[in-house]
Amino acid sequence: MTQPLLAIENLKVAYGPTEVLHGVSLDVKPGEIVTLIGSNGAGKTTLLKSLFGAPRARDGRVIFRGEDITEVPTHRVARRGLSLVPEGRHIFPAMSVVENLKMGLTSRPNPTGVDEDLATIFKLFPRLEERKLQRAGTLSGGEQQMLAIGRSLMAKPELLLLDEPSLGLAPLVVKAIFETLKKVAGQGMTIFLVEQNANQALRLADRAYVLTNGRITLTGQGLELLANKDVQKAYLGGH
Ligand code: ATP
Repeated sequence: MTQPLLAIENLKVAYGPTEVLHGVSLDVKPGEIVTLIGSNGAGKTTLLKSLFGAPRARDGRVIFRGEDITEVPTHRVARRGLSLVPEGRHIFPAMSVVENLKMGLTSRPNPTGVDEDLATIFKLFPRLEERKLQRAGTLSGGEQQMLAIGRSLMAKPELLLLDEPSLGLAPLVVKAIFETLKKVAGQGMTIFLVEQNANQALRLADRAYVLTNGRITLTGQGLELLANKDVQKAYLGGH
C-alpha cells in the first residue's frame, strides 16, 4: 500500500475552551486530489490552519512525508513542502502580478530556475502572463485566485492545499480554475482541496471527506459521494 503523503490522526483543535475539531482523521496519498467538503463553520479552515500549527492541535498528530510535523513552528512548515492557497486569496494588491508570484519563493529552500517556473505558471494561466506587470489589486476575482494558486506553485510544494478557491466566483470561472487544478494534478502535484462548492469539488476529486461540526461523517470516492442521497440533501440542494 502507498504511504500517505499527509496523514492527520485524531486531530483535536480548540479556540480557548471551545473545541471545533473533535478528533479528525484523514489522509492524502501522493498524486491524489482529495477534497474536504462541509458547510459554513464546520471547521474546514481551522483544519488547514492547524496543519501549520496556528491554531496548534490540542491532541492528535499531523504526519507529512512520514515525519511528525504537529509541533513544527509555523514559519518552518511551508519549507517542509506544504503550500496553502488561503481563503480570500491574500494577494498583495499594490504589487505587480510577477512580484506576487515571486513571493512564493520565500518558502523555497533553493530558489533557482525561477524563469522556467514562471513560464510554467504562465502556461497554466495565460491571463496572468498578459497581465504580468499589472497591479494585482486591479485583477478580477478569478484572476486573483489564479494568482494565489500561481504563487503557491512557485513555492514548489509537495502538497498544494486550497481553502475554498471557488468563493465568490462565477460558475464558469470556477470551472476553468478547477480544470487547471486537474492539469496541475496531472503534472504530478498532490492536492488537498477544502470546499463548500461540493458539486464541483466532488467531480474533481479522487476521494472526498465530509466534515460536519468538527467530525468526519462520510468518506468515499468523489463521484460516489456526489451520488450519495445524504450528501445531495445536505450540500447539493437536493431533496
Ligand atoms: P467557513 O466556510 O465559514 O470558513 P469553516 O468550515 O472553514 O467555515 P472555520 O472557519 O474553521 O469553519 O470555523 C469553525 C468554528 O471555529 C466556527 O464556529 C468559528 O466561529 C470558530 N472559529 C474560527 N476561527 C476562530 C478564532 N480565531 N477564534 C475563535 N473561534 C474561531
